[in-house]
Amino acid sequence: MTHLTLQAVTKRFNTAYAVDHVDLSVPDGKLVCFLGPSGCGKTTLLRMIAGLETPSSGSINFAGRDITHLPANQRDFGMVFQSLALFPHMTVAQNVAYPLRLRKTDKAAQGRRVTELLELIQLPHMANRQVTQLSGGQRQRVAIARAIASSPKLLLLDEPLSALDAKLREAMQVEIRLLQQRLGITTIMVTHDQREAMTMADEIVVMEKGRIAQVGKPLDIYRDPVSEFVADFIGLGNILPVTHDGRGGVSLPGGQQIVVTQSERKADATSDVRLLIRPEDVCVKTAFAEAGPNRLSGTVTFIRDVGASLEATIDCSGFSLTVATTSRETPGLALGMPVLAELPAHACKLVAARQIH
Ligand code: ATP
Repeated sequence: MTHLTLQAVTKRFNTAYAVDHVDLSVPDGKLVCFLGPSGCGKTTLLRMIAGLETPSSGSINFAGRDITHLPANQRDFGMVFQSLALFPHMTVAQNVAYPLRLRKTDKAAQGRRVTELLELIQLPHMANRQVTQLSGGQRQRVAIARAIASSPKLLLLDEPLSALDAKLREAMQVEIRLLQQRLGITTIMVTHDQREAMTMADEIVVMEKGRIAQVGKPLDIYRDPVSEFVADFIGLGNILPVTHDGRGGVSLPGGQQIVVTQSERKADATSDVRLLIRPEDVCVKTAFAEAGPNRLSGTVTFIRDVGASLEATIDCSGFSLTVATTSRETPGLALGMPVLAELPAHACKLVAARQIH
């Protein structure tokens, strides 16, 4: 069942479109990430869903009701925004209880709910601590507990982890995701970090210049991006300017010919296309490998071996390829070594080139 639907939602600031005709359905109980570069309209879209910004046109429906013009405080959504900090003069328990106090929940029920929430965020012993005495991660957990205290039907998170250092951020990503799954609360999160979106989301909405570039499950978008913009934004990739004949024959920047098996729905022979191949899909053949279809000769020009993974650059005359492997999978790889790089036909994607305006 879909709880939240957006129809042609648009926001103009003067003449500039921050959000431009966005249609979207957010499935019940899922975590959806709005992902995109700075200025693409993620926060504006989230703020319209929250009721903190009014759409210039279009409509927002929640649970069968048009909420486009409903004030924020009547939507009963939980929010954790970068700017919506905890109250520093209150204890942890007082912060978490705040939305319940606003709703005039009786004292005993408030106490029970706060205890339950502090258990949930694994800070049961910190109820009476001032929030100023907490670590960044603990504060973030309290902010989330406060946002879900009144059991909102929708949780909205705007870059909730951006102030944390990398390690804590990764731990919190997993923590929030597990909490969201346990509670089954429909959640929308804004992030510009594709790794964060891949870690947490059931569905990613990739945005570009106020519009939706692609919506899908993280791995589907990673494997099958609709454009160079999406391919480039989601994960590492080799993206090469190529020409093709519309039947799977592709000419690479160095003039080498390969074949791809992808259906041509995203790129016709006359359009400007790029070839995408992810680093882990390039197979490196070392000693005595024979030349063959889709095998390109090259030289290893860079190696970074960090144990769990090995990244290498292969110069293929005319372009270079980034390869992700392991030293176990590709033993004996060395700088300056001649190799064959195989681009499996099924792993090569042709995508529409980015439009330069
Ligand atoms: P970031 O990741 O940097 O927060 P974003 O994708 O969330 O970016 P928005 O904050 O939604 O982007 O902004 C989208 C566009 O709308 C930007 O060009 C921004 O300058 C513009 N914008 C946002 N809020 C306002 C406002 N109140 N008045 C005028 N322009 C605005």
